[in-house]
Amino acid sequence: MNFNTEIIKKNLIEIKEDVQNYSPSPEKVKIVAATKYASIEDLKEIKEAGLEIFGENRVQVLKEKYEYLLGNEGFESVKWHLIGQLQKNKIKYIINYIDMIHSVGSLSLAEEIDKQAKKVGRKIDVLIQVNISKEESKSGFTKEELIENILEIKKYENLSIKGLMTMAPLTKDEELIRDVFKNLRILKEELNEKYFNGSLSELSMGMSNDYKLALLEGASIIRIGSRLFV
Ligand SMILES: *Cc1c(COP(=O)(O)O)cnc(C)c1O
Repeated sequence: MNFNTEIIKKNLIEIKEDVQNYSPSPEKVKIVAATKYASIEDLKEIKEAGLEIFGENRVQVLKEKYEYLLGNEGFESVKWHLIGQLQKNKIKYIINYIDMIHSVGSLSLAEEIDKQAKKVGRKIDVLIQVNISKEESKSGFTKEELIENILEIKKYENLSIKGLMTMAPLTKDEELIRDVFKNLRILKEELNEKYFNGSLSELSMGMSNDYKLALLEGASIIRIGSRLFV
């Protein structure tokens, strides 16, 4: 892909307009630039266009990009989110600087992040990934598994659980997609009531093809890749 600051700027303005038009609380919505299609050099264009939160899928790539930007003036404000599947043995490579992990999809992963965070004296913001649509190919807790394990997850002192994340199924059926987002919102409300006393604030849901539906259902973080860049 060819990255161009002007194109990204124009796309970002349009996406922000959508946020205003579709979200019930637009002031709460954060846009994460999904950077998996972007090369290290492209990150500068993305930042210049006005994006400040970068979401990467793979630990190794995130680490390379983070380290590259470290040496560049003006990039101190960039925040890094891990949005893809995380292997336990790789947590240590990002634990010192990661701002949020969106993909806590198992108890053992939560335990390991907590352990690594303790070692470096940090408390890490995390989202719990929920496989609302129960697709075989998707990771994350099912709703039932999450409710079964929530008290266990809450015990980890070096995790700060901020909310939930999901991915909608790949389909053109908008009703089905919206239903997935709606169910994540309802699950968050239930957990807030029963276990979190309202402290879950984030719903990370919606990508290029479905972020408007996610906004309608109260997404507070949308993860946008291709829609920004072309
Ligand atoms: C790639 C990716 C995105 C963004 O995808 P687009 O369809 O390009 O917007 C969002 N979230 C995750 C987890 C991704 O892997």
